[in-house]
Amino acid sequence: MASQHYRGRFAPSPTGPLHFGSLVTALASWLEARAARGDWLVRIEDLDPMREPPEAAQQILHSLDCHGLSADEPVRCQSERHEAYQRVINQLLQQGRAYRCACSRKQLRANGGYHPNHCRSTPTVPEGAPHAVRFALTDENSHWLDQLLGPQEQRVRAELDDPVILRKEGFYAYQLAVVLDDIDQGITDVVRGSDLLDTTAQQQQIYHALGATPPRWLHIPVILNDQGQKLSKQTHAPALDDSQPARNLTRALTALGQQPPASLADTTTGTVLDWALRHWRRSAIPLTSGQAHGINPGTH
Ligand code: GLU
Repeated sequence: MASQHYRGRFAPSPTGPLHFGSLVTALASWLEARAARGDWLVRIEDLDPMREPPEAAQQILHSLDCHGLSADEPVRCQSERHEAYQRVINQLLQQGRAYRCACSRKQLRANGGYHPNHCRSTPTVPEGAPHAVRFALTDENSHWLDQLLGPQEQRVRAELDDPVILRKEGFYAYQLAVVLDDIDQGITDVVRGSDLLDTTAQQQQIYHALGATPPRWLHIPVILNDQGQKLSKQTHAPALDDSQPARNLTRALTALGQQPPASLADTTTGTVLDWALRHWRRSAIPLTSGQAHGINPGTH
Protein backbone atom coordinates (compact mmCIF):
# COMPACT_ATOMS: atom_id res chain seq x y z
CA MET A 1 0.00 0.00 0.00
CA ALA A 2 1.39 3.41 -0.91
CA SER A 3 2.10 5.39 2.24
CA GLN A 4 0.06 8.49 2.84
CA HIS A 5 1.63 11.87 2.01
CA TYR A 6 2.52 13.56 5.32
CA ARG A 7 0.61 16.73 6.19
CA GLY A 8 1.34 18.47 9.46
CA ARG A 9 0.38 21.79 10.96
CA PHE A 10 0.96 24.35 13.68
CA ALA A 11 -2.33 25.67 15.03
CA PRO A 12 -1.87 28.47 17.57
CA SER A 13 -4.71 30.22 19.38
CA PRO A 14 -3.80 33.90 19.01
CA THR A 15 -4.08 34.90 22.67
CA GLY A 16 -0.78 36.80 22.44
CA PRO A 17 2.47 36.97 20.50
CA LEU A 18 4.57 33.87 19.88
CA HIS A 19 6.60 32.89 22.98
CA PHE A 20 9.41 30.41 23.45
CA GLY A 21 7.07 27.50 24.27
CA SER A 22 5.05 27.98 21.10
CA LEU A 23 8.24 28.30 19.04
CA VAL A 24 9.36 24.90 20.35
CA THR A 25 6.04 23.36 19.24
CA ALA A 26 6.13 25.10 15.85
CA LEU A 27 9.71 23.99 15.25
CA ALA A 28 9.01 20.37 16.23
CA SER A 29 6.02 20.15 13.88
CA TRP A 30 7.98 21.86 11.07
CA LEU A 31 10.92 19.46 11.49
CA GLU A 32 8.67 16.39 11.60
CA ALA A 33 6.94 17.52 8.39
CA ARG A 34 10.17 18.41 6.59
CA ALA A 35 11.89 15.19 7.71
CA ALA A 36 8.97 13.26 6.18
CA ARG A 37 9.12 15.43 3.00
CA GLY A 38 5.59 16.45 3.78
CA ASP A 39 3.57 19.66 3.84
CA TRP A 40 3.49 22.02 6.78
CA LEU A 41 0.47 24.26 7.34
CA VAL A 42 -0.30 27.07 9.75
CA ARG A 43 -3.80 27.57 11.09
CA ILE A 44 -4.86 30.42 13.33
CA GLU A 45 -7.39 29.11 15.88
CA ASP A 46 -9.13 32.43 16.51
CA LEU A 47 -12.35 31.17 18.05
CA ASP A 48 -12.59 33.43 21.07
CA PRO A 49 -12.44 37.18 20.35
CA MET A 50 -12.72 37.90 24.10
CA ARG A 51 -9.29 36.34 24.73
CA GLU A 52 -7.56 37.41 21.53
CA PRO A 53 -5.96 40.81 21.04
CA PRO A 54 -6.70 41.77 17.41
CA GLU A 55 -3.01 42.18 16.55
CA ALA A 56 -1.89 38.79 17.92
CA ALA A 57 -2.51 36.69 14.78
CA GLN A 58 -0.39 38.99 12.61
CA GLN A 59 2.32 39.11 15.30
CA ILE A 60 2.45 35.30 15.37
CA LEU A 61 2.66 35.03 11.59
CA HIS A 62 5.35 37.71 11.42
CA SER A 63 7.34 35.98 14.14
CA LEU A 64 7.11 32.59 12.39
CA ASP A 65 8.31 34.27 9.22
CA CYS A 66 11.27 35.85 11.01
CA HIS A 67 12.22 32.37 12.23
CA GLY A 68 12.11 30.92 8.72
CA LEU A 69 9.02 28.83 9.46
CA SER A 70 6.73 29.56 6.55
CA ALA A 71 3.65 27.56 5.63
CA ASP A 72 3.30 25.67 2.35
CA GLU A 73 -0.29 26.80 1.85
CA PRO A 74 -2.27 29.97 2.62
CA VAL A 75 -2.88 30.36 6.35
CA ARG A 76 -6.38 29.35 7.41
CA CYS A 77 -8.24 31.30 10.13
CA GLN A 78 -10.96 29.52 12.08
CA SER A 79 -12.92 32.76 12.35
CA GLU A 80 -13.74 32.26 8.67
CA ARG A 81 -15.09 28.76 9.16
CA HIS A 82 -18.24 29.33 11.22
CA GLU A 83 -20.63 28.07 8.57
CA ALA A 84 -18.80 24.77 8.28
CA TYR A 85 -18.79 24.31 12.08
CA GLN A 86 -22.51 25.09 12.33
CA ARG A 87 -23.33 22.63 9.54
CA VAL A 88 -21.59 19.83 11.40
CA ILE A 89 -23.15 20.79 14.74
CA ASN A 90 -26.60 20.61 13.13
CA GLN A 91 -25.76 17.23 11.69
CA LEU A 92 -24.50 15.90 15.06
CA LEU A 93 -27.64 17.23 16.79
CA GLN A 94 -29.81 15.48 14.24
CA GLN A 95 -27.89 12.22 14.69
CA GLY A 96 -28.17 12.41 18.48
CA ARG A 97 -24.35 12.73 18.81
CA ALA A 98 -24.73 16.23 20.27
CA TYR A 99 -27.28 17.85 22.54
CA ARG A 100 -28.29 21.22 23.93
CA CYS A 101 -27.24 22.03 27.47
CA ALA A 102 -28.39 25.01 29.51
CA CYS A 103 -26.47 24.11 32.69
CA SER A 104 -25.21 27.15 34.52
CA ARG A 105 -21.65 27.60 35.73
CA LYS A 106 -23.02 27.22 39.24
CA GLN A 107 -24.51 23.80 38.45
CA LEU A 108 -21.28 22.67 36.85
CA ARG A 109 -19.25 23.95 39.80
CA ALA A 110 -21.52 22.12 42.22
CA ASN A 111 -20.70 18.94 40.30
CA GLY A 112 -16.92 19.41 40.54
CA GLY A 113 -16.75 21.05 37.10
CA TYR A 114 -18.21 18.00 35.38
CA HIS A 115 -21.38 17.88 33.41
CA PRO A 116 -24.19 16.73 35.73
CA ASN A 117 -25.86 14.33 33.32
CA HIS A 118 -29.47 15.31 32.79
CA CYS A 119 -29.37 17.19 29.53
CA ARG A 120 -28.96 14.21 27.22
CA SER A 121 -31.96 12.25 28.42
CA THR A 122 -34.18 15.07 29.67
CA PRO A 123 -33.81 18.07 27.42
CA THR A 124 -34.15 21.02 29.76
CA VAL A 125 -33.63 23.94 27.42
CA PRO A 126 -36.66 26.20 27.40
CA GLU A 127 -37.50 27.83 24.03
CA GLY A 128 -35.11 30.69 23.35
CA ALA A 129 -33.02 30.14 26.51
CA PRO A 130 -29.25 30.49 26.12
CA HIS A 131 -27.59 27.12 25.83
CA ALA A 132 -24.38 25.41 24.87
CA VAL A 133 -24.13 22.36 22.61
CA ARG A 134 -22.14 19.39 23.86
CA PHE A 135 -20.75 16.40 21.98
CA ALA A 136 -22.12 13.11 23.33
CA LEU A 137 -19.15 10.92 24.23
CA THR A 138 -19.32 7.15 24.57
CA ASP A 139 -17.90 5.39 27.64
CA GLU A 140 -14.58 3.97 26.60
CA ASN A 141 -11.17 2.88 27.79
CA SER A 142 -9.28 4.33 24.88
CA HIS A 143 -5.89 2.92 23.86
CA TRP A 144 -3.78 4.74 21.34
CA LEU A 145 -0.16 5.22 20.41
CA ASP A 146 1.69 8.50 20.77
CA GLN A 147 4.64 8.80 18.38
CA LEU A 148 6.85 10.04 21.21
CA LEU A 149 5.24 8.97 24.47
CA GLY A 150 4.28 5.46 23.36
CA PRO A 151 1.09 3.57 24.27
CA GLN A 152 -1.54 5.72 25.96
CA GLU A 153 -4.63 4.74 27.88
CA GLN A 154 -7.39 7.23 28.56
CA ARG A 155 -10.74 6.82 30.22
CA VAL A 156 -13.54 8.62 28.39
CA ARG A 157 -16.63 9.14 30.53
CA ALA A 158 -19.91 9.66 28.72
CA GLU A 159 -21.88 12.70 29.95
CA LEU A 160 -19.46 13.75 32.69
CA ASP A 161 -16.74 14.71 30.20
CA ASP A 162 -18.95 15.67 27.23
CA PRO A 163 -17.11 18.62 25.68
CA VAL A 164 -18.82 21.85 24.76
CA ILE A 165 -18.66 22.31 20.98
CA LEU A 166 -20.73 25.51 20.79
CA ARG A 167 -20.48 27.84 23.75
CA LYS A 168 -23.43 29.59 25.36
CA GLU A 169 -22.01 32.95 24.25
CA GLY A 170 -22.28 31.73 20.65
CA PHE A 171 -18.58 30.96 20.08
CA TYR A 172 -17.54 27.70 18.44
CA ALA A 173 -15.33 25.66 20.74
CA TYR A 174 -11.87 24.17 20.27
CA GLN A 175 -12.71 20.44 20.49
CA LEU A 176 -14.90 20.34 17.40
CA ALA A 177 -13.22 23.07 15.34
CA VAL A 178 -9.75 21.54 15.63
CA VAL A 179 -10.99 18.12 14.52
CA LEU A 180 -13.06 19.47 11.65
CA ASP A 181 -10.23 21.56 10.28
CA ASP A 182 -7.67 18.80 10.66
CA ILE A 183 -10.00 16.52 8.68
CA ASP A 184 -10.80 19.19 6.11
CA GLN A 185 -7.13 20.05 5.59
CA GLY A 186 -6.11 16.41 5.29
CA ILE A 187 -3.77 16.51 8.30
CA THR A 188 -2.11 13.13 8.78
CA ASP A 189 0.11 14.03 11.74
CA VAL A 190 -0.58 16.28 14.70
CA VAL A 191 2.44 17.51 16.68
CA ARG A 192 1.43 19.62 19.67
CA GLY A 193 2.09 20.31 23.33
CA SER A 194 1.42 17.62 25.93
CA ASP A 195 -1.00 19.98 27.70
CA LEU A 196 -3.47 18.75 25.04
CA LEU A 197 -2.80 15.05 25.66
CA ASP A 198 -5.96 14.68 27.75
CA THR A 199 -8.18 15.87 24.90
CA THR A 200 -6.95 13.24 22.44
CA ALA A 201 -9.25 10.31 23.21
CA GLN A 202 -12.28 12.63 23.11
CA GLN A 203 -11.13 14.07 19.79
CA GLN A 204 -10.74 10.54 18.40
CA GLN A 205 -14.40 9.93 19.19
CA ILE A 206 -15.30 13.08 17.26
CA TYR A 207 -13.26 11.82 14.27
CA HIS A 208 -15.16 8.54 14.36
CA ALA A 209 -18.55 10.29 14.67
CA LEU A 210 -17.65 12.21 11.51
CA GLY A 211 -16.62 9.05 9.69
CA ALA A 212 -12.94 10.05 9.59
CA THR A 213 -9.69 8.36 10.63
CA PRO A 214 -7.76 10.12 13.41
CA PRO A 215 -4.25 11.33 12.57
CA ARG A 216 -1.04 10.11 14.19
CA TRP A 217 -0.35 12.08 17.37
CA LEU A 218 2.93 13.31 18.79
CA HIS A 219 2.80 15.28 22.03
CA ILE A 220 5.90 17.16 23.02
CA PRO A 221 6.49 18.14 26.65
CA VAL A 222 5.50 21.71 27.41
CA ILE A 223 8.15 24.24 28.34
CA LEU A 224 7.98 25.54 31.90
CA ASN A 225 9.11 28.84 33.34
CA ASP A 226 11.36 29.16 36.40
CA GLN A 227 8.29 28.75 38.62
CA GLY A 228 7.41 25.43 36.98
CA GLN A 229 4.37 26.84 35.14
CA LYS A 230 3.61 26.24 31.47
CA LEU A 231 4.77 29.17 29.35
CA SER A 232 1.62 30.94 28.22
CA LYS A 233 -0.11 34.27 28.04
CA GLN A 234 -1.59 33.59 31.51
CA THR A 235 1.83 33.00 33.05
CA HIS A 236 3.18 36.14 31.34
CA ALA A 237 5.54 34.39 28.95
CA PRO A 238 7.51 37.13 27.20
CA ALA A 239 7.18 37.56 23.43
CA LEU A 240 10.05 36.17 21.39
CA ASP A 241 12.66 38.67 20.35
CA ASP A 242 12.26 38.51 16.58
CA SER A 243 15.60 40.24 16.05
CA GLN A 244 17.43 37.12 17.36
CA PRO A 245 15.83 34.27 15.41
CA ALA A 246 18.95 32.07 15.08
CA ARG A 247 19.53 32.28 18.84
CA ASN A 248 15.86 31.48 19.58
CA LEU A 249 15.85 28.52 17.20
CA THR A 250 19.08 27.16 18.68
CA ARG A 251 17.58 27.31 22.17
CA ALA A 252 14.39 25.68 20.90
CA LEU A 253 16.48 22.83 19.46
CA THR A 254 18.18 22.40 22.83
CA ALA A 255 14.75 22.23 24.48
CA LEU A 256 13.92 19.49 21.97
CA GLY A 257 17.00 17.51 23.10
CA GLN A 258 18.89 18.04 19.82
CA GLN A 259 22.30 19.28 21.11
CA PRO A 260 23.03 21.98 18.51
CA PRO A 261 26.53 23.50 18.65
CA ALA A 262 26.42 26.82 20.54
CA SER A 263 27.99 28.59 17.57
CA LEU A 264 24.78 28.08 15.56
CA ALA A 265 23.18 30.83 17.65
CA ASP A 266 25.36 33.39 15.83
CA THR A 267 24.46 32.21 12.33
CA THR A 268 21.28 32.65 10.25
CA THR A 269 17.86 30.98 10.44
CA GLY A 270 18.66 29.13 7.20
CA THR A 271 21.83 27.67 8.71
CA VAL A 272 20.10 26.64 11.95
CA LEU A 273 17.13 25.04 10.19
CA ASP A 274 19.42 23.25 7.78
CA TRP A 275 21.49 21.84 10.67
CA ALA A 276 18.28 20.93 12.52
CA LEU A 277 16.88 19.00 9.60
CA ARG A 278 20.09 17.09 8.97
CA HIS A 279 20.39 16.12 12.63
CA TRP A 280 16.72 15.77 13.61
CA ARG A 281 16.17 12.89 16.02
CA ARG A 282 12.65 12.48 17.31
CA SER A 283 13.88 9.98 19.88
CA ALA A 284 16.05 12.66 21.52
CA ILE A 285 13.03 14.80 22.51
CA PRO A 286 12.75 14.70 26.31
CA LEU A 287 9.69 12.88 27.57
CA THR A 288 8.98 15.18 30.48
CA SER A 289 8.42 18.91 30.68
CA GLY A 290 11.53 20.97 31.23
CA GLN A 291 12.36 24.43 32.36
CA ALA A 292 13.65 27.00 29.93
CA HIS A 293 15.87 29.13 32.11
CA GLY A 294 16.25 32.81 31.56
CA ILE A 295 13.08 33.35 29.59
CA ASN A 296 11.07 35.02 32.32
CA PRO A 297 10.21 38.69 31.92
CA GLY A 298 13.05 40.80 33.18
CA THR A 299 15.63 38.03 33.14
CA HIS A 300 17.15 38.92 29.81
N1 GLU B 1 -4.99 25.99 19.27
C1 GLU B 1 -4.47 25.12 20.27
C2 GLU B 1 -3.54 25.90 21.19
O1 GLU B 1 -3.00 26.92 20.81
C3 GLU B 1 -3.66 23.98 19.68
C4 GLU B 1 -4.50 23.05 18.91
C5 GLU B 1 -3.85 21.72 18.57
O2 GLU B 1 -2.65 21.72 18.26
O3 GLU B 1 -4.54 20.72 18.61
O4 GLU B 1 -3.37 25.48 22.32
